[in-house]
Amino acid sequence: MNLIGLSRAELQSELEKMGEKPFRAKQLWHWIYFQGKRDFEEMTSLGKPLRQKLIDSGYTLNRPEVVREQNAADRTRKWLFKFNDGQSVETVYIPEEDRGAVCLSTQVGCPNGCVFCHTGSQRFTRNLTAGEFVAQFMAARDSYDEWPSPSHETRYLSNIVVMGMGEPLLNYENVKKGLQIIMDGEGIAISKRRITLSTSGVAPMIPRVAEDLGVKLAVSLHAPTNEIRDKIMPINRKYPLEELIAACRKFQEIGGTRQYITMEYVMLDGVNDSDADARELMRLVKGLAVKFNLIPFNEWRGCPFKCSSGNRIRRFSALLEEHNYAAPVRQSRGQEIMAACGQLKTAAGQA
Ligand code: SAH
Ligand code: SF4
Repeated sequence: MNLIGLSRAELQSELEKMGEKPFRAKQLWHWIYFQGKRDFEEMTSLGKPLRQKLIDSGYTLNRPEVVREQNAADRTRKWLFKFNDGQSVETVYIPEEDRGAVCLSTQVGCPNGCVFCHTGSQRFTRNLTAGEFVAQFMAARDSYDEWPSPSHETRYLSNIVVMGMGEPLLNYENVKKGLQIIMDGEGIAISKRRITLSTSGVAPMIPRVAEDLGVKLAVSLHAPTNEIRDKIMPINRKYPLEELIAACRKFQEIGGTRQYITMEYVMLDGVNDSDADARELMRLVKGLAVKFNLIPFNEWRGCPFKCSSGNRIRRFSALLEEHNYAAPVRQSRGQEIMAACGQLKTAAGQA
């Protein structure tokens, strides 16, 4: 049994089953999530008898297997991680000067099938467990040898974006549990302000993110009208824009309007990138505290779309900025290793 992914309470009850006192759970938590140890032998404060018991009981702290690691010229790193049942996901690290974000996956494939997304063209296989979700981050840290957990100021793997394969709000309980483990102050301790969860718009679950987690929210908006959105994001037929915007409003009622929502907008040539689209977009989000993030469309083989021209993207951004919205253009990273937004896909889906 892998201990990664158990909540504190669950870890404590495992230890109690072995006749151990509650404070042992606190110590073990520290070794697992702060020190990042994988080997019980090294957990000196636990005492030899307990260490032996943990080993004899068959507990592990295994990470997923690293099937492949690729590094791009811009230092973006992508891993293909394989779990016990042979299923795999991709995880990406996007470095900046002295810090960077780990982009975590939540599902093997994605059931949503957005037409511009490479992951969406892969068959959905299953949800990740909370343990698998957390283990991705730990394996990324292993890869950079960043243990024990450094202070906020000095850590290289400083931020998390839940923007990899899959729709996090269709696997909410596991993602929530995983993020709670990652945010725990006595372990990995990444603060909620450094975590952004991106959703394609599972409206009923959006307020829960503010209630339960308090992390930042990004919404894959991508279209100003239901007519356009229906065509490129099938989930819009289930939760149309009115519902999505209402859910965002609720999110801000709970989280406060200082909690800006990032509206992601993929720039698709001739589909959603006209001046009229920009104006419609501003009407749509009126009253919400939002900033935009324009994402140049990343192409993948077999995809019917093209990216808007550089001029078009700049003009679209300028229109939004004239009306006092922040609308930076996301710099594409890791494209040549297919690590950029919307490019992740694993072998299972290519079969
Ligand atoms: N399922 C979640 C999390 C994935 S985040 C979501 O959809 O929000 C990945 C981001 O990249 C989303 O905003 C997604 O819409 C966007 N994206 C998908 N395919 C893309 C592509 N080919 N080029 C650029 N962005 C893409
Ligand atoms: Fe799934 Fe997000 Fe890709 Fe849509 S954009 S298919 S929701 S991963």
